[in-house]
Amino acid sequence: MSTWDKAKADSQEHFCIDQADGDCKECARVERLIAAGDQLQAENERLREALKEIADPIAAMKKEAEQQGFKPDGRVIVEMAANPQWFREKARAAIKDTTQ
Ligand SMILES: [Zn+2]
Repeated sequence: MSTWDKAKADSQEHFCIDQADGDCKECARVERLIAAGDQLQAENERLREALKEIADPIAAMKKEAEQQGFKPDGRVIVEMAANPQWFREKARAAIKDTTQ
């Protein structure tokens, strides 16, 4: 269980005084915090994936070629890995949709 999953499980338990009319401010607050936490966790995962690809570009480039229906060409991939353009695009795409 991740740190966030534990915090989320803890947050869902509270003494709910207004539960009867379904209008508990604490429930609403916890829901907002959990939604924000889930969004940050998803973002963290996406950024980590991009960093993993940047850290191991040859494997990522081979996978991309296969996904696009090409047989990975070792020479082309070595040339791409020596060019900063692929890394820039990877990093820019990863930060494009971040919340901050
Ligand atoms: Zn409540």
